[in-house]
Amino acid sequence: RAELQALVRTIPDFPKPGILFRDITTLLIDGRGFAAAVDALVMRARPHEVTLVAAIEARGFLFGAAVARALGVGVLPVRKAGKLPGPRVGIDYALEYGTDRLEIHEGAVRPGDRALLLDDLIATGGTALATTRLLREAGAEVPAALFAIDLPDLGGADLLRAEGVAVDSLMV
Ligand code: IMP
Repeated sequence: RAELQALVRTIPDFPKPGILFRDITTLLIDGRGFAAAVDALVMRARPHEVTLVAAIEARGFLFGAAVARALGVGVLPVRKAGKLPGPRVGIDYALEYGTDRLEIHEGAVRPGDRALLLDDLIATGGTALATTRLLREAGAEVPAALFAIDLPDLGGADLLRAEGVAVDSLMV
């Protein structure tokens, strides 16, 4: 954990003044670090016996694809509005200023799917909560969510747990 943590860089005032941005690109470019992070995520994912990994744009894709491959299940890209070509279903959610929208293709989730939600980081939990609702509305169960980084002071993981999702992360 300490070794992974050392590979994450903290950049002040990005994307706005006063924000401390946790930058995982320094972990991604380290072969041993990336492998260790993916292995640790896979280990945490296994007990949930998921049938699908739902990865959130964009950094969630990087971990999501690797974890899905290791589990032998498919990966569902959960995308920002306007990126998917086919008929889609989506959910709007509140940001600090304004709203955003996440979408998946219609029919991408099959009845009975157990989806593992995956993203690089959980802060307020707004993104993960919206994704959980979208997946559930589409017919999937969402038993668990995994993140490389949890910022617990912002309460997102607890919000998600209150919705019945098991939450775990590699770094806090
Ligand atoms: P939340 O919706 O407030 O939980 O924010 C989580 C989303 O914002 C995730 O998709 C993250 O990728 C992104 N995010 C928020 N803060 C950071 C950060 O410090 N580093 C990297 N991504 C972040």
